[in-house]
Amino acid sequence: MDLPKKDEANEKFIVKYRQQLYDLSEFMHKHPGGINTLKGLNRTDMTARFMKAPPHSDAAMYLMKEYKIDSNVAAHNTKQSFAGTDQQDTRQRPRETEDKNNNQLDESMEHLVDWSKAMLPQIANITNCYDEWVHKPVDRPLRLFGPWYLEMCTKTPWWLVPTFWIPVIFQCARQEFSSAWQDDSQLLVLTGYLLFGVLLWTLLEYTLHRWVFHVKLRSNSGPFLCTFHFMIHGLHHKVPFDPMRLVFPPLPGAVLATIIYTPLSYVLLHPRVVLSGALLGYLCYDMMHYYLHYGNPSARAFIHMKRYHFHHHFSHQTSGYGISSPLWDVVFNTRIRLRKLRYQLRWT
Ligand SMILES: [Zn+2]
Ligand SMILES: [Zn+2]
Ligand SMILES: [Zn+2]
Repeated sequence: MDLPKKDEANEKFIVKYRQQLYDLSEFMHKHPGGINTLKGLNRTDMTARFMKAPPHSDAAMYLMKEYKIDSNVAAHNTKQSFAGTDQQDTRQRPRETEDKNNNQLDESMEHLVDWSKAMLPQIANITNCYDEWVHKPVDRPLRLFGPWYLEMCTKTPWWLVPTFWIPVIFQCARQEFSSAWQDDSQLLVLTGYLLFGVLLWTLLEYTLHRWVFHVKLRSNSGPFLCTFHFMIHGLHHKVPFDPMRLVFPPLPGAVLATIIYTPLSYVLLHPRVVLSGALLGYLCYDMMHYYLHYGNPSARAFIHMKRYHFHHHFSHQTSGYGISSPLWDVVFNTRIRLRKLRYQLRWT
């Protein structure tokens, strides 16, 4: 047997599922069900284990297709080192879409768009099935615009958010807090307003996520609404593993903050302190959202929220809108009840 080079073989994590090979090397750390649940599956047929595991959602099954190994390539590279399976069928098998005898249908909707071209202008062409398409996640690079200078603006590294907003948060609260510095009771009042701002944010987080980001789309929703939806939140559901399309970009964020703040500033007491608290709440939310996607939490509360948010992504897209906490999901009855686990999930 001529095995592939040792280091090469060790780096790859390849499994077989229903006569098809999947390369999970990149995905195993992102697997919403944890990495420890995949233990011992490398280079084995996982079909039986998969059937026994808690059921995977349609979105999860759709995502799985992304990791399929082209059968011809697979026959070349992996047939010799695959343990305990019939190697016959991985050899010279035509691609699934061309295989007339294969009863597994190719349910992919990705032929509707061209992933090598700018995506945003194409959304207008798929409005009749956009809602279904956008909730089927993929794991591939997304290009929104053709010209590089526009494309560049659509990418936001996570650290840009605190860099931009922390000075704003301080600036908003500074004046009132410094003039109340000697007065303990006034300081307490301002702290109360600051916390009120944080609470206000949590409600806003829920409101935006539920009624704006997940605005009801129908098959007759126009191209403008679909494109708008894709821009603000649809893309995060379509490519949930794109780290540069996860946090809210600061400039549109500032525009949105201004739109919401301006009318409120006339009716609120200490509006700038409340604004400061709301922005602080927002900052914690966005950092937490990033952490839930990429972090490896060990604290129970964070593990819970990570599972909770992944359930929102992959199985209950019409509930579980809270990201920093399930508070408003409880109030508005959209809470997701998670299964109790007898083991702790890990992601590294
Ligand atoms: Zn899984
Ligand atoms: Zn969402
Ligand atoms: Zn998310």
